[in-house]
Amino acid sequence: MAYLTTTGSGQPVLILKEGTSRSRGKEAQRNNIMAARVIGEVLKTTLGPRGMDKMLIDSLGDITITNDGAAILNEIDVEHPAAKMMVEIAKTQDDMVGDGTTTSVVLASELLKKAEELIDQGIHPTILVSGYRKAAQKAVETINKMAVPVDINDRKTLLKIALTSMSSKAVGGAREHLAEIAIDAVKQVMEQRGDKRIADIDNIQLVKKTGKSLLETQLIQGIIIDKEVVHSGMPKKKENAKIALLDCALEIEKTEISAEIRIRDPAQMKAFLDQETSMMKAMVDKIKAAGADVVFCQKGIDDMVQHFLAKESILAARRIKESDMEKLARATGGRIVSDLEDLSAKDLGQAGLVEERKIGEDKMIFVEKCKDPHSVAILLRAGLERMVDEAERAMTDSLSVISDVIENSRIVAGGGAIEVEVAKELRNYATKVGGREQLAIEAFAEAVEVIPKTLAENAGFEPIDIIVELRATHEKEDGKYKGINVFTGKLQDSFEAGVIEPAVVKEQAIKSAAESAAMILRIDDVIAASKPKEGPGGKTPPGGFEGEE
Ligand code: ADP
Ligand code: MG
Repeated sequence: MAYLTTTGSGQPVLILKEGTSRSRGKEAQRNNIMAARVIGEVLKTTLGPRGMDKMLIDSLGDITITNDGAAILNEIDVEHPAAKMMVEIAKTQDDMVGDGTTTSVVLASELLKKAEELIDQGIHPTILVSGYRKAAQKAVETINKMAVPVDINDRKTLLKIALTSMSSKAVGGAREHLAEIAIDAVKQVMEQRGDKRIADIDNIQLVKKTGKSLLETQLIQGIIIDKEVVHSGMPKKKENAKIALLDCALEIEKTEISAEIRIRDPAQMKAFLDQETSMMKAMVDKIKAAGADVVFCQKGIDDMVQHFLAKESILAARRIKESDMEKLARATGGRIVSDLEDLSAKDLGQAGLVEERKIGEDKMIFVEKCKDPHSVAILLRAGLERMVDEAERAMTDSLSVISDVIENSRIVAGGGAIEVEVAKELRNYATKVGGREQLAIEAFAEAVEVIPKTLAENAGFEPIDIIVELRATHEKEDGKYKGINVFTGKLQDSFEAGVIEPAVVKEQAIKSAAESAAMILRIDDVIAASKPKEGPGGKTPPGGFEGEE
């Protein structure tokens, strides 16, 4: 049946292709809000240090246990378009600041819940959207106003920030150890560009290996190459290494067209082979002349070249990933050379130690003890694969928050403190705006309070009691940093208790939540093309989309 829609008088005005489904107006809004809120509800119970975990089983049966918002949304297969938008928020949050993913999704979901109530009371979505936008801007201003500067050399504070970001991760007693490593790693790759500090955590390589314990996780002042030394006759260790980084094959190029060379005389044959051999010998001589004793090659290395390199006692590895080559260059200060003819002493990188080591089952080459490397590595260890994965998520969060404060150097009080302050300011602001938008801004204020409420609820305390107490405390001058102690259910000064977060994490969470809530609210018509059948029976259309009238 072709889909047609009619005017009030029953005249067909629009004909969509067969199988197209459509839902409009309030119905479309309600469906979208509902779908998006489901995602929020899923993540809600994981928020904070006392949040619960989710067990996720993928289609291959692999199990992940975590309460990391981004990881959860990565694993679950979401189909509804509005729900997908929620997944997008988490991704944006993760890309921009690396933490606060759960916060942003839970907040967006709450904004939609409040919006739905107001829509039911007859407030038009357009008013809601403009009210929410104003509120978000005011909220960001408030965070800015409340943020306090932090000295990036104040290691104690940095440690607290890293620990707060890891508080909900299952890394137990290794927390401090991981936090210390995160700080050292980020500081090592930090760069000054003009009056800006840049700490790009892409320059920190994370290498996971099961076996040993989390406490054996270590920072490598250099990088780890997941390759073996290419020839058994080569040394496995070089101290004070001079490293050639080559982007060209150490092989004789084979001709593309199959050429035939007729050789009748054995002497001719020998001469021909000798020539090849001497060309390869010349390559090794070139490397030797430049003064290198270690070679990392992005392409292949011919057996014969390997042999000559081994004879010269040069350590070499081949087929190194391009990204690893770049990291090698940043770590050792060497230059990647694409034409062997150009190689000279000044292109060589340096490392205090290059060594092949067996980690667990695999051999890897450690390029370490580099002098002031711009790229470093962290070797993550834990007994079980699942634990190494969780350690990686914990490490990524800590690296992100430390890089956030190094670049931005402003922090806010966590444990719900900043959210209560934002809500308070928004309520004041709402009365000044007045009209129907006032209602939207007040709804926004209520929504922001979902964070402290959820932190309390997840810890097993009565959220209403705590939010009332928090509001009252924040009216007082010395109450502005008060948040929840999730272990006692009492209030505490979050700064004093060390529950500290980068201001940018909170700002971004508010921005992305408000933006996506607005985006979902503005949709009043969902027209879905029919889907091509997938497998037997095909997939059912997403819930609430069969809006035939
Ligand atoms: P997100 O993905 O949003 O970062 P988390 O599960 O990491 O979610 O929880 C972050 C929230 O937990 C923040 O609001 C933070 O202030 C709060 N939090 C972290 N540690 C503590 C603590 N020790 N006491 C109270 N709240 C905390
Ligand atoms: Mg977090």
